[in-house]
Amino acid sequence: MSNCLFCKIASGDISATVVYQGDRIVAFRDLNPQAPTHVLVIPRTHVSTLNELTADRDGLVGEMVRRAALIAKDLGHAEAGYRTVFNCNADAGQTVFHIHLHLLAGRTLEWPPG
Ligand code: 5GP
Ligand code: ZN
Repeated sequence: MSNCLFCKIASGDISATVVYQGDRIVAFRDLNPQAPTHVLVIPRTHVSTLNELTADRDGLVGEMVRRAALIAKDLGHAEAGYRTVFNCNADAGQTVFHIHLHLLAGRTLEWPPG
């Protein structure tokens, strides 16, 4: 999608601190980190919100989640723990309408979230 920030990061048109690049997904550091480790995992293909997911994307979303776990492990957070979050629409605070998985780690995270 031409006017989408995360499509532009995925294509390299906008720079980011990339921690993983694959055929279908990209992971990069959040610009405004909410924890010592705050990585966003995105698909290269544009999907606006979780509401737009279709069955043909099940493998893609599975890859996003598994990649987040691998990144957490690579960054040394597997044992202490980490959180993965997808925000969907206004009540969850979604601000970028290209689905992304937040990987948060490196501090104790409260539950329930605010
Ligand atoms: P949301 O609120 O939609 O779940 O999360 C969007 C995230 O994208 C926020 O955590 C925000 O800090 C991050 N973000 C917004 N613009 C940029 C950017 O230009 N570069 C990077 N790396 N992260 C961004
Ligand atoms: Zn997009």
